[in-house]
Amino acid sequence: MTRPPKAIPPCLICRQAPGHGELCPSDDDEATYYLQHPLPDGHRDWTPAGIRYTGTPARRTAVRAVMATTCWVRMHGKPNLPMSPGLLINQILATFGSSASKTARIGYTSDFLTTLDCRCDPWRCIHDHDAPNGVAPDWLTHPRLDPDLVVYVPLVAVEIRWADLWQTYWFADAGGGAVSLAIDSIPEISPPGITVACHRRWCDLCPGSSKPGARAKAPTPCPCSCHAGTPS
Ligand SMILES: [Zn+2]
Ligand SMILES: [Zn+2]
Ligand SMILES: [Zn+2]
Ligand SMILES: [Zn+2]
Repeated sequence: MTRPPKAIPPCLICRQAPGHGELCPSDDDEATYYLQHPLPDGHRDWTPAGIRYTGTPARRTAVRAVMATTCWVRMHGKPNLPMSPGLLINQILATFGSSASKTARIGYTSDFLTTLDCRCDPWRCIHDHDAPNGVAPDWLTHPRLDPDLVVYVPLVAVEIRWADLWQTYWFADAGGGAVSLAIDSIPEISPPGITVACHRRWCDLCPGSSKPGARAKAPTPCPCSCHAGTPS
């Protein structure tokens, strides 16, 4: 069977061809996600920029499997990182501006994402459109696939501790730079008066009390639950 010439495959997200549905994020530069998935206590936004790596259920399965191999390093002092993810993470943090100072942890994966550097429109890539749900695509045994298109991409992550929220930004190290894949958001409010260390879950670094403010004379004890049970 041959494809009719110039047949345009449907969009992976809105399923339309040749155009896109009215609400399809592919046409929206401001869209921050094309799909949201629940996480325990929060959710994950799959970002439009990462569609090439995450645009099918099979590809997202592969990404989640690589995410599970993340080595986390606390962003305290001079974190000790392998050279390659370290350089990329520095580039990413530079784009975060002042928010970079809220980084609690940075991460890099010990495994690579095996994926495809094909010439398809990433919103309409046909290469694993029929891959079974829940199974990472096996590119190397895919029929009619040029093995030269297969690439191995490590992931890096930056975890930001906001006042009331944890966010983890996931990126692919795509050679030329970082490509945003997903943003995880998990709301969590710390008790008032908590120290910066305990707010970031660096409980072993907490001095046990916050510095006295302009009016308070004595230091305020840190209310983090990690101090409960410590004899005073
Ligand atoms: Zn679309
Ligand atoms: Zn493709
Ligand atoms: Zn604590
Ligand atoms: Zn504390």
